[in-house]
This record gives sequence, C-alpha cells and structure tokens, in this order.
Amino acid sequence: MVEFDLSPLLGVRPGEQLAFELDEGPQRLEDISVSFLRGSLTFIRVQGGVLVEGRVETQIELVCVRCLEPFLFDTTFDLEETIGLPGRRRPGITYTLTPEGRFDIAPLLREQVWVEVPIKPLCRPDCHGLCPVCGQNLNEGTCGCHIDPVDPRMAVLASLLTGERE
Ligand SMILES: [Zn+2]
Ligand SMILES: [Zn+2]
Repeated sequence: MVEFDLSPLLGVRPGEQLAFELDEGPQRLEDISVSFLRGSLTFIRVQGGVLVEGRVETQIELVCVRCLEPFLFDTTFDLEETIGLPGRRRPGITYTLTPEGRFDIAPLLREQVWVEVPIKPLCRPDCHGLCPVCGQNLNEGTCGCHIDPVDPRMAVLASLLTGERE
C-alpha cells in the first residue's frame, strides 16, 4: 500500500495541486514485485476528479524465459490517470479516493508496471539458456553433453536422402 493524503484537494477549485515524491523500497504489487519505486507525482484537482501525473522509475523482479533465473529489469514510465472523487462512480474511472480523501496508488502502479514487462523477459539479450539435456545454465559454463548442432529438420532431410540412395 502506497497511500497519499489528497484531502486538501477535495474542497477546492480545479487547478489546485499537490506534489509528492515517491520513494519506496521493495514492494509487492499484488502479483508482481519491484525493488523500488521512485519518482515525482503531481495531483491536480480537475472537474469531477483528481488528475495524477508523473514519471516513475522502478526495477521489476522478473524470471528469464531462457535460463529461468530471476533478474532485475530497470524501467521508467509515465503516469497519467484521473482518479474519481469519493463515492462517485463514473464511466472510464477505475480508481477513486476514499471518503477521507486518501488514495492508495499501488493498484495503479501495478497496472503500469505490468505494461512495462516484456513479452519474453531475458536476463540479457544473448542469454545462452539451459542445456536441453542436463539443464546446466549455459551462461555459467558448458556441460559435457553432446548436442547435435544439426537442425532436426535438416537431419530428417538427410536421412531421406540417404534412404533414396539405397
Ligand atoms: Zn537468461
Ligand atoms: Zn548438458
């Protein structure tokens, strides 16, 4: 939970704003973990809500799809979202302030962090992955397994050709 007190923006005219520094250590955002969240956020009172704007720097804890090792992924994203006023549901508004004017930004940050996650996370662009025979992490060293460098499709073709000759 990363909560801000936005109550000073409840009874004021559009245009009033509050600025906060975001500086959080390791956070579990429901189903994704980050090692930190840093940035500057501005909350601006607008008609019917509060607009949050800012830029957030974070480090997402991911698992490499090739070698299955956990790694940290650095990223920075921009935030721009209208938060609804307490007790008022409006179409297109996902997040609302509590009746006391508090706002937990964690669900919004989680949503944005997920947008930043690559479809195929790699610990490094040239990750060598795991040996398909023994499971050795080939980034850490080679194993003694014999891996046929021939493309399996070519191997099939080669055996067909051999068959023809016989
Ligand atoms: Zn990897
Ligand atoms: Zn091996």
